[in-house]
Amino acid sequence: MIIRNVRILGGEPADIRIENGAIAEIGPGLPGESVVDGAGAIALPGLVDLHTHLREPGREDAETVQTGTQSAARGGYTAVHAMANTSPVADTAGVVEQVWRLGREFAHCDVHPVGAVTVGLEGKQLAELGAMADSAARVRVFSDDGKCVDDAVLMRRALEYVKAFDGVVAQHAQEPRLTAGAQMNEGVVSGRLGLTGWPAVAEEAIIARDCLLAAHVGSRLHVCHVSTAGSVEIIRWAKSKGWNVTAEVTPHHLLLTDDLVEESPVGAYNPIYKVNPPLRTRADVEALRAALADGTIDIVATDHAPHPVEDKETEWSAAAMGMVGLETALSVVQEAMVETGLLDWAGVAQRMSVVPARIGRLGGQGQPLDVGAPANITLYDPSARTKVDPSAFASKSRNTPYEGMTLPGRVVATFLRGRPTVLEGKLV
Ligand SMILES: [Zn+2]
Repeated sequence: MIIRNVRILGGEPADIRIENGAIAEIGPGLPGESVVDGAGAIALPGLVDLHTHLREPGREDAETVQTGTQSAARGGYTAVHAMANTSPVADTAGVVEQVWRLGREFAHCDVHPVGAVTVGLEGKQLAELGAMADSAARVRVFSDDGKCVDDAVLMRRALEYVKAFDGVVAQHAQEPRLTAGAQMNEGVVSGRLGLTGWPAVAEEAIIARDCLLAAHVGSRLHVCHVSTAGSVEIIRWAKSKGWNVTAEVTPHHLLLTDDLVEESPVGAYNPIYKVNPPLRTRADVEALRAALADGTIDIVATDHAPHPVEDKETEWSAAAMGMVGLETALSVVQEAMVETGLLDWAGVAQRMSVVPARIGRLGGQGQPLDVGAPANITLYDPSARTKVDPSAFASKSRNTPYEGMTLPGRVVATFLRGRPTVLEGKLV
């Protein structure tokens, strides 16, 4: 089976021959039956998301393993990490194995469950980290995402514990007392709108503390969804010390700003822009872009957070926080990072596939498109222009901030170990 006429990382046109789920040959004009004409599309290693909310078990009205991974495949992803804030919480070997099995049975990409750090995400008692690591799901990423592990002693213990199996603690950095009742970024706009502010320091203080803790115990720390310029400075400092700290930024924090809450095409106070952490200022967006370009922030992670209509289309203060992101991630990154000249396609592949797979310790994902590598491949046409139509999403939820916007690029095809999951932009 041959994929014809693709440009690997935007390079010269070539064909890719796939055999037994792996890349067998790369070169121009390979003989054989062609299944896909790439028509000059860019070939990237299949994207890997370190931060996806699949909502199953418990909120199948918002998303399921099946629909969430269909959404992932349409976005060019071949693997996702499923966050632990399900119902029940993924805090035992039993629940992570349940999610892992659902992935094996129904998923359109690999599903790697994230284990909760604390029992019930309550921040009081460590969950069974070792049992989750030893389970069939082989959990390596642990997070209470949605909530911060704010107790410093528990955070220290978790960091120490995961060293035994080369795990990583992914922290949702949000000091809870500083953000009690917070509704949007604390700044000029929140002042004008009269909404309770969410100060940057609430994120930055936790990141600084956790970098120090990770260094103290010699463990790996990953910082979820960095959103402020100050956070970038702290992570830059921690990395300059040689500490084992990695960080992610979401596509929406690379593109959108807090003034959309006041004035946007969909009106003021539209909860479509309500997200945790909140949209920040233009200066923060610029700092995040620069940090992703220079490697201070290692990866892009979607924080795909599906919510049903009734949870989003309500008054601002009552609305759920979060946005779907899998099906628009690559386009938003093209807009924010590639069209601005900050990243080339090799840089995008590092930050959306190679490095997230490395942080999650996924052996068969995020490998460069070389002979012998598993055929996890995303074909992407950067010259396309797509008007975002949420009704066409594979996700069960529609809470995208990009509705009606024209974004660059289009995922043409996705291959999972040689098997197409998306062809001509449509699910297979
Ligand atoms: Zn989070």
